[in-house]
Amino acid sequence: MVLQLPPPIVTVRHLDKVRIHTFISAYTEDNIANATHIIEGEKELVLIDGQFLVPYAEQFRAYAKGLKKPINRLYLSHRHPDHWFGLYAAFADVPVYALQETIDFLKTDGQTSLQDHWKMGNLAPNGVLIPQHAVEAGTKEVIDGVTYVFDKIVDTEIDYLLTIRLPDQRVFIAQDLIYSGTHLYLTKYMNHWIDILGKMLTSEDELFLPGHGLPADKDEVARNIQYLTIAMEAVERGLTNDAFQRFMMESFPERKCAGIFKIYMPRLFDNASEF
Ligand SMILES: [Zn+2]
Repeated sequence: MVLQLPPPIVTVRHLDKVRIHTFISAYTEDNIANATHIIEGEKELVLIDGQFLVPYAEQFRAYAKGLKKPINRLYLSHRHPDHWFGLYAAFADVPVYALQETIDFLKTDGQTSLQDHWKMGNLAPNGVLIPQHAVEAGTKEVIDGVTYVFDKIVDTEIDYLLTIRLPDQRVFIAQDLIYSGTHLYLTKYMNHWIDILGKMLTSEDELFLPGHGLPADKDEVARNIQYLTIAMEAVERGLTNDAFQRFMMESFPERKCAGIFKIYMPRLFDNASEF
């Protein structure tokens, strides 16, 4: 069977000496607008995350190939499958970097996570790629003339998240700290998550690269704070599952990708396993 997937969206921003390419899988059906990025320097490419569905991972790789510069490395932001499934399918020959916690998770639980998605068929990869290199929080690296500053954010949308700042370009690679124009994947850490977003609002950064949706500005960071605040109030009022989803969709009719509710609600309301 040949599956017809909707086409991805690509945006390119020209900043100083770099170009930032954002490749977004579809918004329709069960897709959740997975956003992966390429930092294109003068000579080389640095990639962020590997897409979810195999066909999008392959298209993302083909797009990178079309830029005709070698891929220096790929950074994996966190352990949610929509960010690493595509690595095995399309980036097995690329050096992959991640937090040690993410590497440890993939070693112990990556296969289980993959088996849990058996219903995806050919859209899921045949194996798990274990990142070969650990990134340490608080460190800095210059790659192809571009400065990258690494940090570890704990207990927000995920337990351990790698964030990367390009200080010279005022770019913050936030991945799943923000959901740009789409419904958020909610966790029990919403309070702390709001604190972290609040710091982003007063930072020097101007462009925020999300894990879902289009590159964002501070207004979108603020809208994510509003979303989390209203979600927390709804949880406190006792709304769960269908009633909770209905309330959030009515409160934020402009947000896309409602498919995310059924992914996170069993974990938020019914204590399903973390992956
Ligand atoms: Zn995600």
